[in-house]
Amino acid sequence: SKVLVSGANGFIATWVIRNLLEHGYSVRGTVRSSRKGEHLKKYFARYGDKLEIVIVEDITKEGAFDEAVKGVDAIAHTASPLSDRYNHSDDVIGPAIRGTIGILQSAKFSESIKRVVFTSSGATIVRDSDTPVVLTEEDWNVQCLDEFEKLGEGASDRTKYRASKTLAEQAAWKFMQAHKHEIGWDLSVLNPTVVFGPVIHEVTDPSSLSLTPGRFYNYVADREKSEEAGNEFLGRTGSSEWVDVRDVADAHRLSLETEEAGNGRFIINAGSFNWQDFIDVANSLDPPPKLSKPLPKGNPGAGSRIAHLFTLDNAKSKRVLGLKYRSMEETTRDIFTDYEARGW
Ligand code: NDP
Repeated sequence: SKVLVSGANGFIATWVIRNLLEHGYSVRGTVRSSRKGEHLKKYFARYGDKLEIVIVEDITKEGAFDEAVKGVDAIAHTASPLSDRYNHSDDVIGPAIRGTIGILQSAKFSESIKRVVFTSSGATIVRDSDTPVVLTEEDWNVQCLDEFEKLGEGASDRTKYRASKTLAEQAAWKFMQAHKHEIGWDLSVLNPTVVFGPVIHEVTDPSSLSLTPGRFYNYVADREKSEEAGNEFLGRTGSSEWVDVRDVADAHRLSLETEEAGNGRFIINAGSFNWQDFIDVANSLDPPPKLSKPLPKGNPGAGSRIAHLFTLDNAKSKRVLGLKYRSMEETTRDIFTDYEARGW
């Protein structure tokens, strides 16, 4: 069967496409320009016409996906702005909401589509807290919405991103509620935490990595940048939750294949981390990675002393999707093998 993947050239989407192709699916990927499809065509050349690339120039335009959805059996909607700097909140919130509603709208009367999976985020669930909390799929990050409402353009870029994903996911569920009697498919939502892993999308050097793999490189593989960040990664905000991009890709396929995944949201999360934990693992790799820059050392062992204030419970993803998670060691080793192969 054929899956439409939006934002096909992204860090996560390229792994989703690879996972689907490896499991016998055909894929139609959308990118914003033909140039952005070139690497995908080359990288997946051996799959021939099992991978089709189509252009959707502006996902916020009404009917943008009308052509792209024709004849597909499922959709994975991953396209959404992810950056640490937005000129205006509408650069992130607009495309997140309008892109999501737009693709659902285009799919509405399809007779072939059976399932839509939306790549939401753990950002729609987490909230800052002073005492440790365990969060599940029942929780919603209303904190970011309150903050955005209060501060508007003065809100932090993190808050704007979190609000974009929360509003987009809420809009998707609202759409389903309003149209459930008219449509022949259902929705499954994935909420991955911070995603790391080797990259297979188009990158030339470390500075061209997309946001989260770029952060990993800066904090875990580049001593100068890591030290520049100083205590930031040892402080409270450095403690978060993470997951391997290949497990996120698996989750996308499994959520399309698992009947009971319909109408559900799934936290996709391997566990907690702070940068020091990854730095310690990187320094313990055997054989040690051979990179062009010295590894950061940070403050070895200090990771375990950092208060971890939230946990996203991944039990549902294991139970319903049967998802298995890679360890910090495996992910770190594979990322460094990737850096070595690139001569970084
Ligand atoms: P990337 O930046 O690598 O990929 C983002 C994709 O979305 C690209 O294909 C990009 O296209 C497309 N996109 C961005 N803005 C727009 C826009 N305005 N119009 C059309 N397309 C757009 O990020 P990731 O692969 O990391 O993220 C993919 C998805 O996963 C996003 O929805 C993100 O919110 C979600 N996610 C990511 C996490 C992470 O830690 N990385 C964690 C949880 C969720 P182009 O190249 O043309 O800009």
